[in-house]
Amino acid sequence: MALSLTFPDGSVKSFDDGASALDVAKSISISLGKKALAGKLNGKLVDLDAPIKADGKIEIVTKDSKDGLAVLRHTAAFVLADALNQLFPGLRFGEGTATEDGFFYDTDKDDGQVAVTDLPAIKSKMQEIIKAGGQIESASMSAADAKKRYANDKFKSQLADEAGDPISGHKLGDFFDFNEGALLPDLKELKHFDLLSVAGAYWESKSSNPMLQRVYGTAYFKAADLEDDAKRRQEAKERDHRVIGRDLDLFFVDPEVGAGMPYWMPNGATIRRTIERYIVDREVADGYEHVYTPVAANLNLYKTSGHWQHYREDMFPPMDMGEGEMLELRPMNCPSHIQIYKHHTRSYRDLPLRIAELGMMHRYEKSGALSGLQRVREMTLNDGHTFVALDQVESEFQKILKLILSVYKDFDINDVTYRLSYRDPANTDKYFDDDEMWDRSQHMLKAAMDDLGLDYYEAEGEAAFYGPKLDIQTKTALGNEETMSTIQLDFMLPDRFDLTYVGKDGEDHRPVMIHRGVVGTMERFVAYLTEIYKGAFPTWLAPTQVVMIPVKNDLHEDYVNNLKDQMVKAGLRVKVDDRNEKMGYKIREAQTKKVPYTVVVGDDELASGNVSVRRYGEDKAWEQSAPMFINAVKADVANYSRK
Ligand code: ATP
Ligand code: ZN
Repeated sequence: MALSLTFPDGSVKSFDDGASALDVAKSISISLGKKALAGKLNGKLVDLDAPIKADGKIEIVTKDSKDGLAVLRHTAAFVLADALNQLFPGLRFGEGTATEDGFFYDTDKDDGQVAVTDLPAIKSKMQEIIKAGGQIESASMSAADAKKRYANDKFKSQLADEAGDPISGHKLGDFFDFNEGALLPDLKELKHFDLLSVAGAYWESKSSNPMLQRVYGTAYFKAADLEDDAKRRQEAKERDHRVIGRDLDLFFVDPEVGAGMPYWMPNGATIRRTIERYIVDREVADGYEHVYTPVAANLNLYKTSGHWQHYREDMFPPMDMGEGEMLELRPMNCPSHIQIYKHHTRSYRDLPLRIAELGMMHRYEKSGALSGLQRVREMTLNDGHTFVALDQVESEFQKILKLILSVYKDFDINDVTYRLSYRDPANTDKYFDDDEMWDRSQHMLKAAMDDLGLDYYEAEGEAAFYGPKLDIQTKTALGNEETMSTIQLDFMLPDRFDLTYVGKDGEDHRPVMIHRGVVGTMERFVAYLTEIYKGAFPTWLAPTQVVMIPVKNDLHEDYVNNLKDQMVKAGLRVKVDDRNEKMGYKIREAQTKKVPYTVVVGDDELASGNVSVRRYGEDKAWEQSAPMFINAVKADVANYSRK
């Protein structure tokens, strides 16, 4: 019987039954036969030499494709497992596979875990295996054999149970591992790889399960690609807000004291306070009424809002105060702002009513997801809720978006993407039931975006069940996408809390609620800024804006202190470095701490009334009259200058 295979260009060819991807590649050209690494049959990677058993769509995988890299990295994961198995007899194995940017294998050991310090030995062992020049072959194992082989490995035996009978995989010499997909037949191609790190990973990604140690690596076909990757990782490390946060003494999180509960040191607190004052001022100027509401409330509030029913796993457990009173730490501020709305009778003349708060909230994030300030358990959201009539949605949405864009300008934030999320039209019964509200408001959001000329993508089925939304996405140094700002319409909460306003007609009407965050939480925002500025905060945000260094303490300190007083009076953050250290050392340290301005004052400056000024990151200092310098720094601050 002949095999009928369809190629990516649509052409169809017949092959002998049992032909492999290699036969197919060779039939096209000798060179493709040489370049082929694997096949892709109906979207699934298959080994080069495996007989193709059914008709379908075929692609030949070569080095130049993403699939080629996946095959290489999958092979690397296999060789990693072989090496680990040889080095650590009795090691248990979890999942191991290729990823978007490398590969990993999960491990578990009785006597101390695999550690970063083991990586060089593991890498050498892998190189030894590759050098030995064996061929990887497709292989299978019966479920009964697997049971015996993995008798002492509860993780692997569970995976084997789930993999069917017989279990298909690969073997190299005596080493067998079961896996789906294709591996390289020839280990020669696995030359440019590295082992990168070891980190905890929960079995089956569930935090109630044991934590395994995940060994990470990456592999490329070209040495230059591996080097570029190392450079990118280095760059990411230099931007990593956790590293900068420690170097600049901005904050710390100590799992012993409370995982995900950050402590803001004076430097970080100064940055945060500056942002908080800025954003509150901007919002007040934009018509928001700022309030303070409690972080905890009776659990019933969150039952009425529905958080307790739908969001419970992210909430801290309630505190039982006795006599039936249950207190809950809020995971969101919306119900609190609803209380403010309800406290008075509202009329159409009050709308849009804009209530805002730097609202502290608590979410019980999984411990594995916690990361510096980026993902924490106690956070303060630059929160706001606008209550509008349905026909005010578009203009209010635009007003909020304009505020966000203007704030981005001041922080020099440019690299964002806009995502408009709608309900799934094929599945409308999953959503709050009011077709007219959905249709009108989705149109209004789109019209508002078009009107502002913004590029956005539309995501059907991504809306919250209570209304459509706009999310503004940013990328972290580690490459993760996070939501920074958000504008979400909500038809549901006004209903659940029976919110009304008295219309022109004297009747009660239901308002629409808009949840919005401009800069998101203080925690995630400061993490983000730290990364985009690489710790070199612009003058208006920098914890210390000017360091002043007297050349000789006894001769120049009075003059320096006098200048400092003037600057402090002008609202600037200034430090005098009068330690008994060499001047070069002090200048270098001010640069390491990324202070925007370093000022040196010696005899010449004292005589001329000048200062010698050095900008962060620049080699050359310049002379300037002291009053002019002070005015220049003041202008930087007032203009949110990028400097
Ligand atoms: P995520 O998907 O990141 O968990 P979310 O969609 O649950 O966030 P919202 O409820 O919309 O987030 O919260 C508003 C804002 O709060 C987000 O845009 C983000 O800036 C911030 N945020 C949410 N969770 C955390 C957290 N654990 N740590 C720090 N900031 C957070
Ligand atoms: Zn809200």
